[in-house]
Amino acid sequence: MPGFEIFDESEKQQINEVMEKGFTFRYNFDGMRNDVWKARELESMICETINVKHAHLVSSGTTALTTALMAAGIGAGDEVIVPPFTFVASVEAIVLAGAIPVFAEIDETLTLSAEGIEAVITPKTKAVNFVHMCGYGGHMDDIKAVCDKHGLILLEDACQATGANYKGQALGTIGQVGTFSFDSVKTISCGEGGAVLTNDETIYNNAHMFSDHGHDHIGMDRGAESHPIMGSNFRISEMNAAVGVAQWKKLDRILEIQRRNKKALKDALKEYPEVSFRVITDEAGDNAGFLSIMLPTEARTKEVVATLAEQKVPAVFYWYANNWHYLKNWKHIHEMKSSAKLPIDLIADRPDYTQVKTPKSDDIMSRTISMLIQLSWTEEDIQSRIDAFAKVFKK
Ligand SMILES: *Cc1c(COP(=O)(O)O)cnc(C)c1O
Repeated sequence: MPGFEIFDESEKQQINEVMEKGFTFRYNFDGMRNDVWKARELESMICETINVKHAHLVSSGTTALTTALMAAGIGAGDEVIVPPFTFVASVEAIVLAGAIPVFAEIDETLTLSAEGIEAVITPKTKAVNFVHMCGYGGHMDDIKAVCDKHGLILLEDACQATGANYKGQALGTIGQVGTFSFDSVKTISCGEGGAVLTNDETIYNNAHMFSDHGHDHIGMDRGAESHPIMGSNFRISEMNAAVGVAQWKKLDRILEIQRRNKKALKDALKEYPEVSFRVITDEAGDNAGFLSIMLPTEARTKEVVATLAEQKVPAVFYWYANNWHYLKNWKHIHEMKSSAKLPIDLIADRPDYTQVKTPKSDDIMSRTISMLIQLSWTEEDIQSRIDAFAKVFKK
């Protein structure tokens, strides 16, 4: 998945252009910048590639999520449905927006299921934070239908799925609002960065204003701008955006390499009847940043994880036991531990997160292993993994 694997001169040239000709700030300073606008340039490249009206860059995927929630009008006391298998940022962004995370079950797509969502809807439910984990999403027609049926906003966290499609539509553009992350280990890296994606004018306007202290960004004089809403500072810098410009030009190449490398491993694993695969609802649209497999039981999965480690196969993730990506292991989230009182602490009937049960997700995740697909692999690297599989899996 990581775009940093193919950093070359082009990222440096882009940064140099900002330092030598342009300016570090993404807005204004028209007189100083010789028409160098890296954030704008990357935004229009994103819009064109993924066919969305607006892409607004911010400082990270996490701030993109908070911005997306606030911009879509999701705030204090609203319930937002979220999967237990995700990156912890999904939960943090909801809590910081003053809203209430409500956990629902995933299915073999490793993402929320429509039934899982429907089972936890209450009169306070405002939105679904649908997280496209490990390079791909789920049954998006069903997800969209259940959101529409119940009048819920569909927020797509496509932070791990840049470049992925469902039936020709880019993940992140199916719901009312979506997000990308461009952090150091994502498909496209800006160093740090993220984007809010939307076709909705109101959400877009709220997003660019919210992420820059409420500035309306009208005219050429920042000091004279008005502030229709309050906001914060979640801006991206021009240096970060410049790295993204160079990286975005490599997206097709990244996807092609990932898809080829993933196919080689997947084809090899098809030989082993005990191995099944994460359900991908549109193979052609997979970003292919990860290969995720399932084994018949938790015990066998643990054994396989241990043998893969013995065989020194790197970048193997057993999320069920990893403390970054699965609810079961997030003690600080169970207890809503924070350095200061949170809006959610004022909500008397909020869920008791120490008691949340997601048995279906536990069953799936306890049997799931993901392997990172890397861009830098040689034929030998791929072959050595395939050779290791022969020592790990049962024919
Ligand atoms: C990486 C990631 C984020 C957060 O992105 P940052 O840019 O690291 O803040 C959010 N959600 C998911 C699913 C992610 O993988």
